[in-house]
Amino acid sequence: SGVGELLARAASTWPEHPAVRETGGGRTLTYRELAAAAEAQAKTLAGAGVTPGDRVALRLPTSADFVVAFYGALRAGAVAVPVSPQAPGPELEKLLAHSGAKVVVHRDTDTALPAGVIGLTPEADPDGAAEPVDAGGTGEDIAVVSYTSGTTGPPRGVMLSHRALLANLEQLSGVEGVLEHDDNVLITIPLFHVYGLGPGLLQATSVGATAILSERFEAQRTLADCAEFGVTTITGVPTMYAEFAALGAEELGRGLATVRRMTSGAAPLHPKVLGAIREATGLDVFEGYGLTECAPVVTSTLVTGYPKPGSVGSPLPGIELRLVDSDGTDQAVPLDPDDVDDVFEAEGETGLVSIRGANLFSGYWPDGDHGPDDEGWFRTGDVGYLDVDGDLHLVDRANDLIIVNGFNVFPNEVESVISQLPEVAEAAVVGVVDERSGEAVKAFVVPVAGASLSEQQVVDQCAAHLAGYKVPHAVEFAESLPHSATGKLRRVRLR
Ligand code: ATP
Repeated sequence: SGVGELLARAASTWPEHPAVRETGGGRTLTYRELAAAAEAQAKTLAGAGVTPGDRVALRLPTSADFVVAFYGALRAGAVAVPVSPQAPGPELEKLLAHSGAKVVVHRDTDTALPAGVIGLTPEADPDGAAEPVDAGGTGEDIAVVSYTSGTTGPPRGVMLSHRALLANLEQLSGVEGVLEHDDNVLITIPLFHVYGLGPGLLQATSVGATAILSERFEAQRTLADCAEFGVTTITGVPTMYAEFAALGAEELGRGLATVRRMTSGAAPLHPKVLGAIREATGLDVFEGYGLTECAPVVTSTLVTGYPKPGSVGSPLPGIELRLVDSDGTDQAVPLDPDDVDDVFEAEGETGLVSIRGANLFSGYWPDGDHGPDDEGWFRTGDVGYLDVDGDLHLVDRANDLIIVNGFNVFPNEVESVISQLPEVAEAAVVGVVDERSGEAVKAFVVPVAGASLSEQQVVDQCAAHLAGYKVPHAVEFAESLPHSATGKLRRVRLR
């Protein structure tokens, strides 16, 4: 079966239930209306010459337009290529050329498109159809080519089949307390990223829930939206929760009164933020870990049902996880509780996180290179360890490792130590070239508004908790740090 069938099923089971509602006085579409709009969109695409397997770029914000264009593209048998509506001209051109997109669906028709690429606005012409369209792709057919955010290198087009996306929804459905039909799910994160698309939109369609769509997160306005739309579930990223946590407890409690579940993923959620939100609302934020290549969710603290600060939880049912060294041999097994003195301090051996499951991608566009190996395993670039409960802790990305005099420094460890200072709102460290040691640690620190903090205090805090080679040689104060659309720290830019 294919992803398009999720919508067909919802439209026949819950025709009059709202499928999407836009905040800020925007549109509401029921499942029946959404399916009809997607059908019209598919016909418009077919009229523009789109045939099965063609790439259709979706250059749209988190909105009903995106949802209609997405399901319309799948209905036409096309491969959806979501791209950021904010991507500057040259970046857009690069993605269009790389994906070989035939059509771009977008609002901003002023942007010049490369020769041969057809631009369409989201308004589909219901009578514009040449032919009635076919049922769309299934199984191993590629549904989406999703470009990773490029935090570590040039963007890569991850090929996600209908099978992979549906498998991840199936795996998520095996977790207690996930999305239900009567939920109103807030999605303010980009739908062009697979985190917003899969566990956000597709999961909502699969149970016939209502997606509350907002183009932009703005803490106070978003809280008001939560109250107005009776939001019950938030699919979010750490930067959102950090901004929520900075609001007053009373305001937060009022705004989130109807919310029963919040999840965070894409980047580490600071235990400080988890604690502040729990204090204000009595609610936990459940952290998950995922990658575009895994369509995308791998682990979640929802699997065990309790949040564990610093851990991203256990693999979803149906996903296998191993920690390996660079040769691919098993590096680590969960710790035996009988062998450790203090289970809360105990850290297992670290290794590269390797994943196997039906949710895995089909390699990178266009040739399917570097996909899962012969035995079905995909080795991520993330380094982690398992604790005594078998829960995963991410240490860092292998690529972010800083090597000082031959000693490994994981940025996360230094950042956590700096973040323990109450005056610190956010901290980031990167490696900078150093004549003597090869690389040295440099810290960027955002102080809490109104707090006074010196370079020496940051260095002293690190010296008190870390080995000498991990202590920053330079500290720079900043008003904010660069983040991607899903709240990932852009270390490349800091470097
Ligand atoms: P690129 O590969 O181009 O750098 P990217 O890795 O950011 O892009 P994504 O698929 O968007 O591409 O992100 C996946 C990565 O996000 C994971 O490999 C992991 O490093 C990070 N990540 C996801 N969830 C978490 C989490 N809960 N805590 C820490 N890191 C996370």
